[in-house]
Amino acid sequence: MKKVVKFGGSSLADAEQFRKAAGIIRADKSRIFVVPSAPGRRFDGDTKVTDLLYKMDEIAEKGEKIDDILGKIRARYTEIAEGLGIKDPSTGKPFSLDDEFEKIRVKMTTEPERDYAASRGEYLNSLIMARYLGFEFIDAREVIFFDENGVLDSEKTNDVLGDRLKNAKNAVLPGFYGCGSDGRVKTFSRGGSDITGSIMARAARADVYENWTDVSGFMVADPRVVEEPESIDTITYRELRELSYMGASVLHEEAIFPVRHEGIPINIRNTNRPDDDGTWIVESTCQKPKFVITGIAGKKDFCSVIINKALMNSEIGFCRKVLQAFEESGISIEHMPSGIDTMTVVVHESEFLDKEQHVVSAIHRLADPDTIDIEADLALIAIVGRGMKSMRGTAGRIFAALAHARVNVRMIDQGSSELNIIVGVENKDFETAIRAIYDIFVTTQI
Ligand code: ASP
Repeated sequence: MKKVVKFGGSSLADAEQFRKAAGIIRADKSRIFVVPSAPGRRFDGDTKVTDLLYKMDEIAEKGEKIDDILGKIRARYTEIAEGLGIKDPSTGKPFSLDDEFEKIRVKMTTEPERDYAASRGEYLNSLIMARYLGFEFIDAREVIFFDENGVLDSEKTNDVLGDRLKNAKNAVLPGFYGCGSDGRVKTFSRGGSDITGSIMARAARADVYENWTDVSGFMVADPRVVEEPESIDTITYRELRELSYMGASVLHEEAIFPVRHEGIPINIRNTNRPDDDGTWIVESTCQKPKFVITGIAGKKDFCSVIINKALMNSEIGFCRKVLQAFEESGISIEHMPSGIDTMTVVVHESEFLDKEQHVVSAIHRLADPDTIDIEADLALIAIVGRGMKSMRGTAGRIFAALAHARVNVRMIDQGSSELNIIVGVENKDFETAIRAIYDIFVTTQI
């Protein structure tokens, strides 16, 4: 049995959290590969080390002095290293990151680089973790590669990292970064250590990818909207993809792809409650979900562009021309429910507002519609669940619950996989709608 364990920033925010994480690793001999994040927030209002590093880069790019901010960053690591009482095995002296901080100072004062700066958060935390556990340290820059377009080169990474891990008894690999095609450090998007963990699990052919964070897995609904929602025991990759796309954020959206490739399950666990089972994310399962729906997630601030044209259905190429208008303006499309003489294109308000009139005139030029209506302040809510398939009455229950809560439904879209139903409501009804759907499927079933 081989496990890859990734710890999030809050799980490694200070010496006490570090000790918990190390205790978890030591408690199970199969936890041999470790991916740390950078130290996160220790309390409300605290600043994550990654944010301090971005700030340091901004200051350095302006040619101003970085001593103060670098001192603050250094203090975070000193607290951890000293708090853990780590000694240098050869000298017996306290473990020191002096040389590392000097390298960072020189680099940032001579040729500052944003990604390099940000990556130091996980790099330094991993040096400490490796030393504390007595594990091998592998620099992610040597084993994770991006191509010329800045996209992860999955196969090269898998080959190189796979080879390296074959001979490793154990190892610590920093999350969040790798090597760009120009040889410089390149980071993933924020929260990207989740992706590193997944890449490592694939390369190591691990049995499980454990992702340790500060919550006991996924909840059926966002706890900021529904009070103490039920947790999800098991969720499939596809369900999770739908939910995370719609805003459920525990795991980075892209983190499922490397492990999905190998069918490796992900187990989301809570560092502060290690006895909780957490949520299992799996390829497929015959385990019945607790409720008909697995989860509800949603996002606010969409616009719908409604294009009307009589006999649209018999005009070949009409939809393509409309979509071309959005493509020309560089706007990505979220949903496209259609009627007989209308098609609706749902887009992000923030992306669309500036280009609104440009898109409207492009649609007129390319597709010659009768009219175009635009509506803003739309919220989309995805109701996701493998249990909905072939289950009669699910949609009926959703709409009855919404009607009962006096929420007007402005749009409906059911995926053909029967895995999700998306409803559009007004922004102001967003929370009420989620609570109503949660109640009908969960509260009334407990
Ligand atoms: N430290 C990085 C961030 O704050 C990456 C991560 O934690 O996954 O986004």
